[in-house]
Amino acid sequence: MTPRNLVLFDIDATLLDTQDAGVVAYEMAGVKVFGVAFSFTNVPLHGRLDSENYADAVRRHGLGVDHAEHVEAFQAAYATSLEKVAEDRGGFKACRGIVPLLEVLMERGEIQIGLLTGNWEHTGRFKIRAAGLDDSIFQCNAFADHGQHRDDLVPVARDRFESMHGTPPARVIVIGDTPRDVQCARAGHAESVAVATGVFDTDALRETGADVVVEDLSPTDSLLQFLSR
Ligand SMILES: [Mg+2]
Repeated sequence: MTPRNLVLFDIDATLLDTQDAGVVAYEMAGVKVFGVAFSFTNVPLHGRLDSENYADAVRRHGLGVDHAEHVEAFQAAYATSLEKVAEDRGGFKACRGIVPLLEVLMERGEIQIGLLTGNWEHTGRFKIRAAGLDDSIFQCNAFADHGQHRDDLVPVARDRFESMHGTPPARVIVIGDTPRDVQCARAGHAESVAVATGVFDTDALRETGADVVVEDLSPTDSLLQFLSR
């Protein structure tokens, strides 16, 4: 059965809660590669790409180097640091409602699921596994590696769907916890589900004009109804 709709999940504060492990790992990786603990105090990270955060940190700390030249070393150090933080904390936690929702979506042939995330692919997949989830069920993905800005990512996932199935999806729905998730859905002519499991509450998320706003992803039946329409 060819799936009809493409449902794209954000990772941080949508699928799982790392309790800012990413920020801690950024600090550690900054020390390792540049000798400076990257700080993100008062920097609005939510919904940005890893590549944007990294380039911004190099600039803000006045390192006077070309960030592109060091990106691979930084990614490697970040991956090692993130693994260490995850290990120290006994893994990350899946957000409320995620496990049952993914289970029912996997049973439904008419929905293809994927990731649309600001994470680099390698570390994004690691976070998912560290939360006890199976990253291999997401097969139609767009990571930070695939664009300059979050708004570039819906078309990437839509193209993947089309190459996999020979036809574009009837609907694309982005599920995320920040105004940037809703914005990238709009930029990519997709629909959006905004979920208040991150720092934005339902009032703030309603202001974004998201198609659906929920406290968390535990209302499996009503979400399924919307996603499989
Ligand atoms: Mg998020």
